[in-house]
Amino acid sequence: MTLFQKIVAREIPAKIISEDDESIVFHDINPQAPIHVLLVPKKPIPRLAEATEEDRILLGKLLLKAQVTAHALGISQTGFRIVINSGRHGGETIPHLHLHLLGGRPLGWPPG
Ligand code: 5GP
Repeated sequence: MTLFQKIVAREIPAKIISEDDESIVFHDINPQAPIHVLLVPKKPIPRLAEATEEDRILLGKLLLKAQVTAHALGISQTGFRIVINSGRHGGETIPHLHLHLLGGRPLGWPPG
């Protein structure tokens, strides 16, 4: 089981914002911005580099869920960033695909 599957199974606690059949949304344990939320598909796709055509609809739904979550958390107007870290150079630390939703302050560019 991945760490995120353990959160879905309630084996590890998390501040859950929302959940449906396909995904779960919760606050990052080590926030890098005033709002830092993770959107995780329940299907344990290891990383974006390994997603397939079969995951097309799921990936689209996750982006729209990020949009809805940003609105619900009050950062839709001020702006936000979606990040997907894939692989070693991408900064991935948990091998279970997830989107980071960051906002609540101006975010620098380019990322480090
Ligand atoms: P990655 O580096 O793989 O893109 O992102 C993994 C994220 O998971 C990190 O931002 C990290 O802070 C977060 N994280 C790691 N362990 C836990 C945990 O046990 N609970 C929660 N809520 N977030 C975690």
